[in-house]
Amino acid sequence: MPKRFFERILFCERCLLCGKPLENNPFLCEVCLFSLKPSPEEDQITLPFLDGYKTFTHYGWREEKLISLIKFGGIKSLARFVGNLAKPLLEGYIKDKKPDLVTYVPTNPWRFWFSRGFDPVEEMIKGAKLKAEKVLKRRWLARKPLARTKDIEERKRLVKNTFSIEKRFKTRLRGKRILVIDDLLTSGATASEVAKLLKAGGAKEVYLFAFFRA
Ligand SMILES: [Zn+2]
Repeated sequence: MPKRFFERILFCERCLLCGKPLENNPFLCEVCLFSLKPSPEEDQITLPFLDGYKTFTHYGWREEKLISLIKFGGIKSLARFVGNLAKPLLEGYIKDKKPDLVTYVPTNPWRFWFSRGFDPVEEMIKGAKLKAEKVLKRRWLARKPLARTKDIEERKRLVKNTFSIEKRFKTRLRGKRILVIDDLLTSGATASEVAKLLKAGGAKEVYLFAFFRA
């Protein structure tokens, strides 16, 4: 089914999450929209190699459905919409942490070319009207998505050696404070692996902003 057609079907007058008729906003009704809130501070966990993190939403059925529509349903405009919703929080986090460099976790290239045709996190960043540098390179791996892998040890094994630093950034990380943006924070295995890599490359501090918490 062509993606355009698919988007038109979904871009209708009903809330994508609860099915109630829409009034003022595209995609989501007011109730679902206002339910999107960051995780409370006390729910924060310690993630190795990371100096801190923030997420745009907490974990709930609405959030789970939303990220699934973006990542597996392939609705690009919804990714931009979420990015725009998260803009104030993301800007606040940047103001607070004052990173020297803002980057993101790139999607699996195999998934990019053969299934979705877009990178959800790149689209959310565009939706937030932010510029992020591509510091990380992701290996071309055809394997099952990490989000569907529940076992923590298996997740750790899968993310190991998945990333490397782009050549032009290899000498530019020393002493830097870096903010990494990702679409989804699950176990934190990816975030930790990336932070470990950046710190091995000389980064002084690494922070994470994730749009969703699962
Ligand atoms: Zn709704």
